[in-house]
Amino acid sequence: MTFEEKKREYAKLLVNAGLSIRKGQKLYLTCPLEVADFAKLVIKEAYLAGASNVIVKWVDDEIARMKYDYAPIEVFENFPEWEALEKNTLAKDDTAFMRIVGEDPEALKGVDANKIKAGQKAAYVALRDYYKLQSTMGFKWNVSAVPSKAWASKVFPDIDVDEAVSRLWEAVFGTVRIGEGDSVKLWMDHAAKLKEKYTILNNWQLKELHYKNSLGTDFTVGLVENHRWEGGADKDPVDGRPFFANMPTEEVFTMPHRLKAEGVLCSSLPLCYEGDLIEDFKLVFKNGEVVDYDAKKGKDQLKLLLEGDEGSRHLGECALVPFDSPVAKQGILFLETLFDENAACHFALGNCYETNLIGGPEMSEEELIAHGGNISLNHVDFMVGTKDLEITGITKDGEQVTVFKNGTWAF
Ligand code: ZN
Ligand code: ZN
Repeated sequence: MTFEEKKREYAKLLVNAGLSIRKGQKLYLTCPLEVADFAKLVIKEAYLAGASNVIVKWVDDEIARMKYDYAPIEVFENFPEWEALEKNTLAKDDTAFMRIVGEDPEALKGVDANKIKAGQKAAYVALRDYYKLQSTMGFKWNVSAVPSKAWASKVFPDIDVDEAVSRLWEAVFGTVRIGEGDSVKLWMDHAAKLKEKYTILNNWQLKELHYKNSLGTDFTVGLVENHRWEGGADKDPVDGRPFFANMPTEEVFTMPHRLKAEGVLCSSLPLCYEGDLIEDFKLVFKNGEVVDYDAKKGKDQLKLLLEGDEGSRHLGECALVPFDSPVAKQGILFLETLFDENAACHFALGNCYETNLIGGPEMSEEELIAHGGNISLNHVDFMVGTKDLEITGITKDGEQVTVFKNGTWAF
C-alpha cells in the first residue's frame, strides 16, 4: 500500500468501524486545521457511508493558546449557552461524534492552570447531557489521531520535521492495523479477542488484583462488587452494530474501588499532564487514597494533578494491556494518552466509568460513590505495565488466579 492508500484506508476504517456510520445519520467532526486534507478524506467516506450531514469544528493549537493567554478568566468560567445547546442537542439527535487529535503535546505548557480548571468545570456543568450520553454510550463517538508537525517533532526531536511526520504516520498506521489487509475485518477480529478476555474476567468477579514487578510495584487494588470488565467495541444504541470509542484500543478495563488500594505503584512510562512530563514517579496508596508520592521529574506537575480535587487522589480505572501490544511494539513514547495508555497496563486517577459497574449508568453520583465509584473532574491515565509484571487475582473465596504473567495475559 502506498502512503496515500493507507490514509484512505484509515479514513474508511474510522467511518465504517470506528463509528459504523448509518444511513441518514449526522457526523460531528472535531479536527485540527493543520490536517484538513485528512479530514476531507473522512468527510467523503462519511457521505459515501450514508451520512446526511457532516458538521466540522476546526481546532488549532495557536488559536487555543491565544485564548488562554489573552481572554479573561470569566470567559472560561462561563460556558456559552449557544455552544452547549449545539452539542447537547446533537447528542440527543442521532449524531455520531468524531474527534481527531494531533495537538502539540506542549501546546498549553505554562498557561494559567486556573483558566484550564475553570474551563473544565464550566464545560462539565453546561455539557452535562452530552457527557452523560457519551459516558453511557448513548451515542457513537470515536477518538483517533493524525500527526501534526508539532506533535511529530516532539516524538522525534532529532530528525527533520517532514521525516518526523512520515515516521509518526507509519507508527500510527501500525497501531491501528493499517497496511495488513482489510482493516475493518482485522478490527472485528481484535474486538472478538478482547471480548474473550473480558468475558472470562467478568465470570471470575475477582475481589482484588495484586501487582508486582522489578520497578518496585507491590500493590493491591480492590474491585467494586458487580464490576464489569469491558473493552474493544461498544454497541450502537440504535442498531447494536459495533463501534470503537478509541482507535487504537488494546485495553480491557474495569472499576477499582475508590477506598481499596494499598501499597506502591511505580510508573513505567512518562506521563504528559497538561503539557508537562512527569517521569519515573511512584504513588503510595492507603485506603484507596494517594498518601505519598515522588517523581524524578515533574513532581510539581504531579502535585497539581493530585490536588485537582478529592477524587484526583483516588483511582477511577484499572486497565490491562499486554506489554507487546501493537502500540507498544512501535517502541516510541507517543506523548499522547490515546496511544501510550494502549502500550501498557494502566490505572487512572480521577473519574470512574459508570458502565464498569452493573447498573452504574442508572445510578446517581451518591449511589455510585456508595458502590465504590470515584467522581472527579480529572481522569488521567498513567502506565504501570512492564515486561515482568505479574498480576494475581483473588477470588471471593480467597483463591488465587494468575491474570498476567511476564507482562501479558496468562489465560
Ligand atoms: Zn484506559
Ligand atoms: Zn482512562
